[in-house]
Amino acid sequence: MKQELIFLGPPACGKGTQTEKLAKYLNLPHIDTGSLLRAEIKKQTPEGKLADSYISKGQLVPVDLVGKIIGLRVEQEDCKNGFILDGYPRSIEQAEILEKINQKINKNVETDFRAIYFDVDKDVLLSRIVNRRSCPKCGTIYNVKYHPPKADGICDECGTALVQRADDTEEIAKKRFETYFEQTAPVIDFYKSRNVLRTLDAHGSIDEVWERLKEAVK
Ligand code: AMP
Repeated sequence: MKQELIFLGPPACGKGTQTEKLAKYLNLPHIDTGSLLRAEIKKQTPEGKLADSYISKGQLVPVDLVGKIIGLRVEQEDCKNGFILDGYPRSIEQAEILEKINQKINKNVETDFRAIYFDVDKDVLLSRIVNRRSCPKCGTIYNVKYHPPKADGICDECGTALVQRADDTEEIAKKRFETYFEQTAPVIDFYKSRNVLRTLDAHGSIDEVWERLKEAVK
């Protein structure tokens, strides 16, 4: 059966790290809207320039732009057995768009659709954000305090110099939390009402959360 897994949770709740692991474990593509948008910014495409003007303020990128990127991505051949969506949908409007995309791509396809919500206390999140570093080459995520690389500033996996995301400053992070609570948190109830929501306790170490996640997707 086709498996579609949607991940919800506040900024820095740990879903990026876990969904990358899960994608390898389930052999499904990992579709991360934030990374797709940052790739457009790096290439300085018109879409990237537009996205940057929102991302740098901690706001959501316009719904049409993200919907187009996701719609094209999930139609691709590697998504035929399913996919992992990390960072989409982020508003009720986007959740409704995803339903329309699914009606189009899943005609006569039996699908196991689940939304997994990473539940974690808000006070631990800001500290996770400002200490977060990531590898621009392979995407591995570190935390300089709790999950540092072996050599300072260098990716364990591929030896590339780690970077801090431009929107991981305290000021922009606070705005991202506001955006999350206003626009994304209501999506949790949207999926609860459709009986597809699983809530995951996202406190604790990467390994502890991973064990819980494997249970949630069984
Ligand atoms: P993330 O890497 O998931 O933390 O996303 C970084 C930023 O990209 C967000 O703060 C938004 O500005 C933008 N973004 C990511 N996903 C979406 C989405 N589904 N809708 C609109 N904007 C998004």
